[in-house]
Amino acid sequence: MTRPRALVVEDSPEFILLCQHLLEREGFDVIVATDGKQAVDRAQKDRPDLAILDLGLPDLDGIEVCRQIRLFTDAYIVMVTGRADELDKVVGLSVGADDYVTKPFSPRELAARIQAMRRRPRSGTPSGGASQVREYGGLRIDPDVREVTRDGVVLDLTKIEFGILDLLSSAPRRTFTRGQLLEDVWGDNWYGDDHIIDVHVGNLRKKLGESASTPRHIKTLRGVGYRFEP
Ligand code: CA
Repeated sequence: MTRPRALVVEDSPEFILLCQHLLEREGFDVIVATDGKQAVDRAQKDRPDLAILDLGLPDLDGIEVCRQIRLFTDAYIVMVTGRADELDKVVGLSVGADDYVTKPFSPRELAARIQAMRRRPRSGTPSGGASQVREYGGLRIDPDVREVTRDGVVLDLTKIEFGILDLLSSAPRRTFTRGQLLEDVWGDNWYGDDHIIDVHVGNLRKKLGESASTPRHIKTLRGVGYRFEP
């Protein structure tokens, strides 16, 4: 079995050492990036399972890095902020992090969060969705091979994005609450910020070529959840 991989994104050497030590003890292979651009490159190349991402970086800020990484990976992302008011901002912006910690934190606190995350099944196949191929206009969803094409072109969806589309389109026009989506796509032991779902839906819409204000297939029911319009 290959060891899970963690990416640490931070410019402070002490913090890198602390994380490296802790993550190795938790069984991870650790990759380090010291600026935002490097972080996006490494995330793309090395496909980490977990990213610990500091908000204060020398070039791109951590928020922008989180947005960019979230477009192509389902990795667990823990944002680290130096101040509580920054934390509010990050949570409010809902950029796609799974969890947040404020500096200074104890290694034990971070370890506990990492362990909680690892109990959540992320690589599993979602249970929802019928298994037959579904076609809606130019959109074709094949649950057996987990492939989505739009006008014949294969879309590069993450597992979570596929899971959301698969579940919603399995019951067109039925509204799924955030809780239902989280339970089905993320799994029973889901843990963290529930606005994470809006970020994944936003990325999914982009890949489907939908506009957020007038989406063709994935409708938002404000305050409730989402539904698929065939
Ligand atoms: Ca920093």
